[in-house]
Amino acid sequence: MSNLNQNFDTETINFQKLNLGPYSNNVYILTCKKSKKSIIIDTSHSSKDILSACKGTEVQFILQTHCHGDHIDALDEVREITGVPLGLHKKDKEEFGITSDFELKDGEFVSFGDVSIKCVHTPGHSKGMTMFYFPGHCICGDTIFPGGPGKTWSHEQLLQLLKSIKEKVLTLPKETILYPGHGENTTVAKSKILVSKYELNGNPQKEDFGDITWE
Ligand SMILES: [Zn+2]
Repeated sequence: MSNLNQNFDTETINFQKLNLGPYSNNVYILTCKKSKKSIIIDTSHSSKDILSACKGTEVQFILQTHCHGDHIDALDEVREITGVPLGLHKKDKEEFGITSDFELKDGEFVSFGDVSIKCVHTPGHSKGMTMFYFPGHCICGDTIFPGGPGKTWSHEQLLQLLKSIKEKVLTLPKETILYPGHGENTTVAKSKILVSKYELNGNPQKEDFGDITWE
């Protein structure tokens, strides 16, 4: 079943996944059900679609999982129209030269209304890649997809990304749903099986990087 666009409620959060643009980018809007305070995670492709999904909520800030072009192509517009602060990891801020208003740090929480979500730093696909976790759910950016890890541009980056995946993703409760920066969701349980198979098959092989698949 496709989960490219989703809108559901947890006990405290209204969760929206918007699938936008030619690269199947995902933007996430989380709203505190009680206070209607919301946040925008990643700003791909269409400020119009993003802002219309925020209607009836009070946007508090924007967070970026990372700053590759297809995840920030609507950032300037969304920032200008909402006027809210932007939170980024320092490493992505430095690498991509984007001015942010506050820093995202590994293990720290960001709050809106009655909701707190945890920042989890998973370098590899980008140096500052940050996931956002709350029980049962993790918005993971381009850290991991159903079919493999995010793209890397050197073997060292792939090794770093696999380390992040094993230490920070696969250690989450196994029922946790992973919401990536593109396409369909996966889960920690499914990823655990695929990563262990990948390793049992002798991967990663020397010099591997790029678009790696688990199979
Ligand atoms: Zn990316």
